Amino acid sequence: MFNQNLLNNHTAMGQCDCDCDCACAIALPNDWFIASEEAVPSIPVDCPFLLAAWLHLTDRCNLRCDYCYTAHTAADMSLPLGRAAIDATFRSAVTHSYRAVKLKYAGGEPLLRFPLALELHRYAQTLAEKHGIILDGIVLSNGTLLTAEMVEQMQTTGLRLMISLDGIGATHDCQRRYADGRGSFAEVVRAIEMAQVGGLTPNISITISGRSIEGLPEVVAWVLDRDLPFSLNFYREYSCAACHTDLSLENERMIAGMLSAYKLIEGNLPHRSLLASLADRANLAAPHLRTCSAGQSYLVFDTQGRISKCQMDMAYPVTDCHDPDPLGTLRSSTLGLQSPTVDEKEECRECQWRYACGGGCPLQAHRATGRYDGKSPYCAIYKVLYPEVVRLEKLRLLKYAE
Ligand code: SF4
Ligand code: SF4
Repeated sequence: MFNQNLLNNHTAMGQCDCDCDCACAIALPNDWFIASEEAVPSIPVDCPFLLAAWLHLTDRCNLRCDYCYTAHTAADMSLPLGRAAIDATFRSAVTHSYRAVKLKYAGGEPLLRFPLALELHRYAQTLAEKHGIILDGIVLSNGTLLTAEMVEQMQTTGLRLMISLDGIGATHDCQRRYADGRGSFAEVVRAIEMAQVGGLTPNISITISGRSIEGLPEVVAWVLDRDLPFSLNFYREYSCAACHTDLSLENERMIAGMLSAYKLIEGNLPHRSLLASLADRANLAAPHLRTCSAGQSYLVFDTQGRISKCQMDMAYPVTDCHDPDPLGTLRSSTLGLQSPTVDEKEECRECQWRYACGGGCPLQAHRATGRYDGKSPYCAIYKVLYPEVVRLEKLRLLKYAE
């Protein structure tokens, strides 16, 4: 059965709202993996009903985060191109029988184009109504430009908000700075508090790098204290950030930092499911064949209306918003990113965690191994963390069952 409630539960069930399009999953009981840690599901599926689209409203940003993958040119998306991108998304959804569309208003910093985000989302609402498709929309922001008026308008328009916060104080500031080198922590906290006061609960995206890992427990405690939904995402290397070698994750430090953060979570278990938010791209809530929907159920529009398979692969557009069947073209494209199923990954196909993990980000695997079907370079970290995530979720369910 599919309904709005299912979509509302979708984040908890499987799709995180980080800047990446993670594997989504059909609704299955939260104890799917808990019954037996050895359990391997018989019917893993990719998300059959949700088409996601990334709208790169601008390439401009007021921050210069060390791991950012955008070039920060002066390029903006125009209103006509934005509408054409929304048209292309709904055209694809109708052609391929999707029942829900999720729009991510992104950049660059999308709050620099906030009126455009509002206008496009209102337009998307008219198309969703016309085609009987469920619509979800989220603004992926650094938070620094948020105002109380924006919070109110987001609520009126039905938009959700995700804000990036990588640590407390200097830990955040060491990798998320303004162009003039100042840290952005104070403004980000102000934005989170402003959104909460205005009744809009932001999702917090925490990107973990070799530079920030020791500060992870502190920021996790901070979000738990405020009862904020959050996701823990690992830094992914790409060419623009390669010069920052200290961002790279070293297995032992990473595992130690993650387990310290998990210890804190164990002492303050939240109401929300933890299965899709505690171990990078993994989703232990339901079996799936791929880590993300790139190349399958995901359209990434750049400021000029060109369409790529992933926001980190925008240098290789495969079609544009005027294509009669953009999703069909994207799926059949052999250009750039390929996304094999985890069963097609030789090093993963015997792994007990394969349908929770999917083998990791294919772009990252390609960067590390030269192959899209290589296993994640974070595999050794994942294999330590996954049983711990299951254990935490078990404790959480027991706590709230009482
Ligand atoms: S990357 Fe590692 S943990 Fe993930 S499915 Fe492959 S072998 Fe298993
Ligand atoms: S290919 Fe990697 S970066 Fe792109 S959406 Fe998938 S997991 Fe995210």
